[in-house]
Amino acid sequence: MLPPQILPALTAALGPDRVFSDAGTLALYSSDETPRRVTPGAVLFPASHAHVAALMQIAHAHNIPVVARGAGSGNVGGALPVEHGLVVSFECMNKVLEFDPANRLIVVQPGVVTEDIGALARTRGLFYPPDPGSGAYSRIGGNLAMNAAGPRAIKYGVTRDFVLGLKAVTGDGKTLTTGCRTSKGVTGYDFTRLLVGSEGTLALITEATLRLVPAPETVATLRLCFNSNRAACEAVERVMAQSVLPCALEIMDRRSIEAIRPTGAADDLPLGTEALLMVEADGPVRDVPHQIAALKEALKGEGLLEVREGVTREEAVALWTARKSLSHAVKQYAPLKINEDVVVPVSRLADFIDFLDNQGHRYPFPIVSFGHAGNGNLHVNLMVHPDDAEEMAQARACLNELFATVLAYGGTLSGEHGIGTEKRAYVGLEIDPDTLGLMRAVKKQFDPAGILNPGKLFPDD
Ligand SMILES: Cc1cc2nc3c(=O)[nH]c(=O)nc-3n(C[C@H](O)[C@H](O)[C@H](O)COP(=O)(O)OP(=O)(O)OC[C@H]3O[C@@H](n4cnc5c(N)ncnc54)[C@H](O)[C@@H]3O)c2cc1C
Repeated sequence: MLPPQILPALTAALGPDRVFSDAGTLALYSSDETPRRVTPGAVLFPASHAHVAALMQIAHAHNIPVVARGAGSGNVGGALPVEHGLVVSFECMNKVLEFDPANRLIVVQPGVVTEDIGALARTRGLFYPPDPGSGAYSRIGGNLAMNAAGPRAIKYGVTRDFVLGLKAVTGDGKTLTTGCRTSKGVTGYDFTRLLVGSEGTLALITEATLRLVPAPETVATLRLCFNSNRAACEAVERVMAQSVLPCALEIMDRRSIEAIRPTGAADDLPLGTEALLMVEADGPVRDVPHQIAALKEALKGEGLLEVREGVTREEAVALWTARKSLSHAVKQYAPLKINEDVVVPVSRLADFIDFLDNQGHRYPFPIVSFGHAGNGNLHVNLMVHPDDAEEMAQARACLNELFATVLAYGGTLSGEHGIGTEKRAYVGLEIDPDTLGLMRAVKKQFDPAGILNPGKLFPDD
């Protein structure tokens, strides 16, 4: 239970229509994309930075846990409430505060939907490249907290690369302003980069100044079919070893292809297709055909069954829709998706996919892999039955081997989904104790009472 004086204090600070503790609202905000549920004590809907500062001061004074929430689309439990704690939903802070084409920037509140930023930028020939698969509903605050990314990361980078500055509120209710509005700036420590990807554990982001770039004139798509996962991964390595950088280089393995069959997007694949690559090039109209020619040359090799060039815009949209729906489509294999998001150096991708194929033979459950091959970032999904204790034990063994292999290859545990509750037990495998200790000390400076998103990101002491 929340202490009795808390709800009246929050209501006085935010107004009566911004503090909810009825059972229906609590249930609605009790989960994210993970299957877990935790009932919070109250859900708050601030409308301004001042509201967020006020609520954090109250929470700090009474030592009440606070969990920020965008759209709740995260798949690592990052937005899972703490029991009897506060959920701060940023849905009502959804305004574009400034759009400044001359300075190629946009200033937004955290509740703006990701794709709305890109749509507005394009009205003036500008481009906001980060494109998570959930962009139609995820909020920019959630993207910033998780350093979200998508297929375009291979050429343009991730959310962090597009943030000029932030306004935020620390765990003790102080206002923090980071970065600047100019394309260059080196005054003080780079707290902007620190806050991006910090999963709501250091501060609540209330405003972001985002960098925009010129929109590409055109995009062309290639679809390539291979007779094995390894052949597709070797093609990826060849592409990355030459000078033309695609703006997307995505892989789907056989089980992913099966999962998209109901959409019709895999109807015309040649017999024997075991892996699919989607490759895109963008830029000026006169350059793109040259880029495509160079990419085709690099992609040629053993195991290539078919290259489809001249994929129409409609076909490309259908393929992308199918690709972006995979996160949900794979659930047809089993009720629980253990969703990993590992990254290996591109030069180890073919070895890694062999390892995954081997795991697929060793374990009884389907392992479905797809993702951002050009970044070496694969979403590896173990499709299991949570009520089957034996299968769950095998899944844990499989995960331990997966992480050990990724780290042995010089990779990292998460490329874009983050750590949250789901992966925190493994963080100590990648980050050494001294570095983790320093991270904990940094958290204490931003959040002295440890109330911001406790139980996330860090392993147990
Ligand atoms: C179908 C599907 C596809 C996806 N595809 C991708 C993908 O391609 N790439 C990718 O990166 N992710 C992907 N995701 C994961 C998820 O959508 C991203 O992590 C996204 O950034 C989360 O945004 P959200 O608004 O839903 O945040 P939430 O899930 O609500 O929150 C995520 C984290 O951010 C924190 N947070 C939210 N707002 C703030 C704030 N204002 N200040 C501080 N902390 C805050 C929360 O506390 C939590 O820790 C996908 C998810 C789904 C369901």
